[in-house]
Amino acid sequence: METDYDVIIAGGGLAGTVVAHSVAKHSSRRLRTLVVDRSPESMPGSKSVSGWICGDAVSREAVDYMTKHTGVAWSGPEIEHTVKGVMAFSPDRETAIPFDGDGYMLNRQVLPQEQNRRAREMGVDFDFGVNLTGLLYDGDSVCGVEGRPRGGGAYRKTAKIVVDATGMTSMLRNQIRNTDKIERKVDRRDVESTGRHIMRFEAGEEDKTEFDPDYCIIHLDQDIAPGGYGWVFPKGNDKVNIGLGVEKTLLARRNERLGKKDDVSGLIDEYVARNRAIRSPRLSEDAGDSDNATGNFQVSVRRQNDCLVAGGYMLVGDSAWMPKPLDAGGIGPALIAGTIAGRCAVAAIEAGDTGEAGLWQYNREYIDEYGYKTAGLEVFRRFIQTLTNSQINYGMRHFLGDMDVESISRGEHPDFGGVGRLGMLVRGALNRRLAGGLRATTAQNRLLTAHYRAFPESPRGFGEWRRRLHGLLGGAGAAMARYS
Ligand SMILES: Cc1cc2nc3c(=O)[nH]c(=O)nc-3n(C[C@H](O)[C@H](O)[C@H](O)COP(=O)(O)OP(=O)(O)OC[C@H]3O[C@@H](n4cnc5c(N)ncnc54)[C@H](O)[C@@H]3O)c2cc1C
Repeated sequence: METDYDVIIAGGGLAGTVVAHSVAKHSSRRLRTLVVDRSPESMPGSKSVSGWICGDAVSREAVDYMTKHTGVAWSGPEIEHTVKGVMAFSPDRETAIPFDGDGYMLNRQVLPQEQNRRAREMGVDFDFGVNLTGLLYDGDSVCGVEGRPRGGGAYRKTAKIVVDATGMTSMLRNQIRNTDKIERKVDRRDVESTGRHIMRFEAGEEDKTEFDPDYCIIHLDQDIAPGGYGWVFPKGNDKVNIGLGVEKTLLARRNERLGKKDDVSGLIDEYVARNRAIRSPRLSEDAGDSDNATGNFQVSVRRQNDCLVAGGYMLVGDSAWMPKPLDAGGIGPALIAGTIAGRCAVAAIEAGDTGEAGLWQYNREYIDEYGYKTAGLEVFRRFIQTLTNSQINYGMRHFLGDMDVESISRGEHPDFGGVGRLGMLVRGALNRRLAGGLRATTAQNRLLTAHYRAFPESPRGFGEWRRRLHGLLGGAGAAMARYS
């Protein structure tokens, strides 16, 4: 079939533009590539009318990965500030775990303009203001997209491959018809309701557990952010991205426990107000934040979709539920997946096989690079969400050895090797249960990681692999329930 394009990228957000660069790089700009986004051209890549709602933090390692493989380097103005890492504080602020290493605070409003400029230089086309509503099919393969342009009428464009980068709420993934391997719907308990402000402020009390220009701060606290965490990410000495995320059923339980009726926006305002290092905070009026100073959005915190490809179709970024289950960091995985997806799309087109089998390599490469660890982290995240503040305090103080901290800082599941050796020294029934739970998540993580390392080489082995995966996840859930 003659198609309008070789590759259509649905969604010109962060993941979509990285795919565009990667396709251009790996095909030496030979492939005809189109990015379609529902945002107007004046607000490219925005998640909603409230802007590009995000904590804006990404590790240098992930950016370096993208740069190495696509040739695209980020600098100012899209990088607004550099940090030495992320510091996660226990509820009592007595213990901190560093993770992720050196990183950047991005300006998400400016970034897509830079991304799109580069993509255009590479020969990529853009259609803005088109709300995509579905996929087109040729036999059992996806062959394009359809939607509604802003001014009215119908929109249809065809391609050999459609890459779905339309984010969390993807309408394309929800309705896909040519696969039983891709999951369509996300469990509400695997979604965090989040929000944040970008603010200027005057210096208050000097307190590095509240604001640190060199570190992104995370506050674990089941009263402040039940089932999630609060964050204070520096964008300069007097500028901050401050917000929090919660799991809604846990927020309801917390409200019941405390006799409150708080919602996410109210919790954020309280969180800002109680920060002693930040005085007279006000929403940023910087030109680079003009459409982006405040807003709420959702982010998934589970393993990536069990399968990332169907005939003529690939999933990338938030539409594939790629944010890391422990901290909802989705920029890093989007950079890695976008890079790999672009390369695999080019390889499939050059090999003349854009069917499920021809695109299968993307599943494998993403799992090898990043996705192998996410199911174990999903189990760990579910367990942490059940803990009380005093259990988190105790666990962070007593159960985290140097090796565990190192694993967490690499984004891996810790081993909790010391937990077993402490044995009966653990004080209190709840903390003994915590120790048991940590040992159990470690055991489940080993099984799950090994299972992902054995991801099938072709679609043929997938049914059996997925059956075993869900068996392992069910087993992990039952094992963890004993300690929750
Ligand atoms: C409050 C919050 C804080 C976060 N903080 C961090 C953080 O600090 N670090 C981090 O790594 N991650 C963070 N994340 C996650 C991160 O923002 C996402 O993982 C990242 O933006 C994913 O990029 P994406 O391109 O996959 O999706 P998106 O950024 O959502 O882009 C999707 C694009 O598709 C377009 N689109 C959607 N539907 C359609 C349609 N039907 N038709 C056409 N176009 C469509 C949208 O307009 C948009 O341009 C946070 C998320 C939230 C909500």
